[in-house]
Amino acid sequence: CGVFGVFNHPQAADLTYYGLHALQHRGQESAGIVASNGKTFKHHRGMGLVTQVFTRNILDGLKGNMAIGHVRYSTSGESLLQNAQPLVFKYIEGDLAVAHNGNLVNARIERNVLQQQGSIFQTTTDTEIIAHLIARSKKKHFDEAAPDILTRIDGSFALLIMTEKQMLIALDRHGLRPLSLGKIGEAIVVASETCALNAVDAKFWRDVEPGEWLLLDENGIQTGRFAQKEELSLCSFEFVYFARPDSVIQGRSVLSIRKELGQILAKEHPIQADVVVAVPDSSIPAAIGFSQQAGIPYEMGLIKNPYAGRSFIEPTQELRELAVRLKLSAVQEIIEGKRVVLVDDSIVRGTTSKRIVQLIRQAGAKEVHVRISSPMVRNPCFYGIDMPTKEELFANALEHEQAMGQAIGADTLAFLSTEGLLEAVDVNLAETSTRCIACFSGAYPTKLYLE
Ligand code: SF4
Ligand code: MG
Repeated sequence: CGVFGVFNHPQAADLTYYGLHALQHRGQESAGIVASNGKTFKHHRGMGLVTQVFTRNILDGLKGNMAIGHVRYSTSGESLLQNAQPLVFKYIEGDLAVAHNGNLVNARIERNVLQQQGSIFQTTTDTEIIAHLIARSKKKHFDEAAPDILTRIDGSFALLIMTEKQMLIALDRHGLRPLSLGKIGEAIVVASETCALNAVDAKFWRDVEPGEWLLLDENGIQTGRFAQKEELSLCSFEFVYFARPDSVIQGRSVLSIRKELGQILAKEHPIQADVVVAVPDSSIPAAIGFSQQAGIPYEMGLIKNPYAGRSFIEPTQELRELAVRLKLSAVQEIIEGKRVVLVDDSIVRGTTSKRIVQLIRQAGAKEVHVRISSPMVRNPCFYGIDMPTKEELFANALEHEQAMGQAIGADTLAFLSTEGLLEAVDVNLAETSTRCIACFSGAYPTKLYLE
């Protein structure tokens, strides 16, 4: 998912609309904006893309100088309008809205505790728990209750919580998801990625630190911590696939890391070939990096229909397969008679690769060598990227690269090593890693509360 917020700006909802638009790649199922004029909320949520959910008319109704917004792809709770965020509540001090990117690993347990205490839930999302915890907190007011409950939730959360007059921004203690702050004059802007700060012409201020909260209100900015900060485990999959290439996360350009992933991949798994082709759009930077390192020309051998969305984040397997078919076609001019290196950023379920190797062969390729700019995904993600069960993961169905290559119809298949991934995405390899690589390695940075 993607979150965006604006504090202290007369066009708060408009800016949020543009911010969400720039974060659309992080979720395409639903979108929503809540604005406050200091006394009351106006909000609108709907299923679909930001441009489908909002019209000029609707935005004009969202008056106020603060707003938060959300684009969703479901990893916890179904894809339903009632689960669309920001969630909006009436509580003892008035209106309350919550926008959350991430996934709470202790949601089931906390939900149970809250239900025992008498809470009734209106959604199936983990996010609703946060509102109940605030409402039931022993601390009297929002500005004390909201920071206080952050120790009760575990997992990943880039979180925006708003009342009529205050906004709380918080990031989980591991910094699993990105969250950046910007400024437009006196106004504060917060976004899942810096590409959304650029979209509204905000100046980058800084990243929110793991375990940090900020409270914005008429008295200014208050900051505090609910956890120590040395535990950074930023999701490495943000660099591999999820984030937009023009974003900068924790000081690192996503685009240059993706190119580096491709370069390291070319060093680790060289191959004689005539042309390097990317699976657009997400693997283009890695393919360019591969091409530069290998000295094999990069060509646009696959064309993506710009009106098709991201196939992975379709919620069902049928939809994902259909989406791949609508999405890509091969360019015969480039492919025919050639030995093709096909670069993709990841294999999760194997849906994409199988279909694309087929496309490339039908276009007359002599050989197809698939190179993946991340290691094998062998473990589910519990932190908000949709890789749900071990059984569904392609890398678990087959033991070796060779068998996997055969299964997708490639002449050869090779993955980046975990060391190669860390070399590109981590900053201080000498010390402990500051990146989560759990879906590749199985070493999760939090408790999982699975019993
Ligand atoms: Fe990211 Fe993988 Fe960790 Fe999930 S398990 S947060 S996808 S690195
Ligand atoms: Mg792709």
